[in-house]
Amino acid sequence: MTAPLAPGSTIGILGGGQLGRMLAMAAVQLGYRVIGYAPEGDNVAADVCQDFFENGWGDKAALAAFASKCDVVTWEFENVPLSAVAAIPDRLLAPNPKALETAQDRLAEKAFVEQLGATAAPHARVESEEDFRRALEEVGTPGILKTARDGYDGKGQWKVGSAQDAKGVRFPGRRCVFEGYVEFETEFSVILVRGHDGTIRFWDSTSNTHDDGMLASSILPAGDLVDSQVDEARQIATKTANALQYVGVLCLEFFATGQGPIFNEMAPRVHNSGHWTIEGAATSQFENHIRAIAGLPLGGTDTRFASIDMRNIVGEDALTAHQILAEDGEPHLHLYGKKEARDGRKMGHVTRVSHKA
Ligand code: AMP
Repeated sequence: MTAPLAPGSTIGILGGGQLGRMLAMAAVQLGYRVIGYAPEGDNVAADVCQDFFENGWGDKAALAAFASKCDVVTWEFENVPLSAVAAIPDRLLAPNPKALETAQDRLAEKAFVEQLGATAAPHARVESEEDFRRALEEVGTPGILKTARDGYDGKGQWKVGSAQDAKGVRFPGRRCVFEGYVEFETEFSVILVRGHDGTIRFWDSTSNTHDDGMLASSILPAGDLVDSQVDEARQIATKTANALQYVGVLCLEFFATGQGPIFNEMAPRVHNSGHWTIEGAATSQFENHIRAIAGLPLGGTDTRFASIDMRNIVGEDALTAHQILAEDGEPHLHLYGKKEARDGRKMGHVTRVSHKA
């Protein structure tokens, strides 16, 4: 990109979920127009986009029509098929689609980050029932069998507690990775933004908890163990972003263990564990992603409070979430406008901030 995107220009977002909705809100604040694109569904980003294409990922004509209206195109969902991304002219795309390709496959992602010096959980490729039995021997139990592609929020994963348990788990017929279970103290994520000129800024790393594989909370301060491992994790994240010539927000998730940080996975997009940055940081991950892809100066990432607690609101809890507004302190409630409060579905989040540690 040569010149920054002028006010009134159009940003296209592939994917229609809450991340797209919050990205669109940040883009609109900076004077841009936003057009979304996603297959038919509960596309909550559409509520805040000026235009929205509800078309399939295979609809090349619709993708071309969408791209023709955009000055830059990004994504909020890492499982956008590469064939759909390939239908968008390269010069419009940010981040680099290579990041999407790498992150879509757990095996490729681990290999990529390991080659840059990261340690991942012990793991083995599983492409058949025999591979699975061999992986159980090599990696040992407990472990987790994960589909290599299309998994998110703990979906496409089978826990294998012991060799005995393994008898009840079958190869699911799709390429998988079998990972040894990591005995972690806590989990944390490194979220960075990288600009067109290669400048990188990090937000503070939160300590993250998960329920059934789905993020439940992100907390600051993250504690001594995380703080002592953040530098090493940031070095890996920096090498990853540079190797991918990345532009925008990138998240790498780690397990904090007694043996140092163990890489879990990366998300080439804004991330749930960075939602606290909307109120808690000088510039949110959403605004800095838009600034980066638009070629604008990046905003500061300093944390503005002594303690921050972000929690997801899942399923039917959303129906009573407005009660949170009556709490003392500063609860910042975000509801995503999803029509159906299904079990296990992320419906919103609340960020509680305090000047007291
Ligand atoms: P993932 O979809 O791979 O990020 O997994 C979702 C969550 O499941 C992680 O954030 C962890 O809480 C848990 N998990 C995944 N893989 C492992 C592992 N190898 N060892 C321990 N916990 C894991």
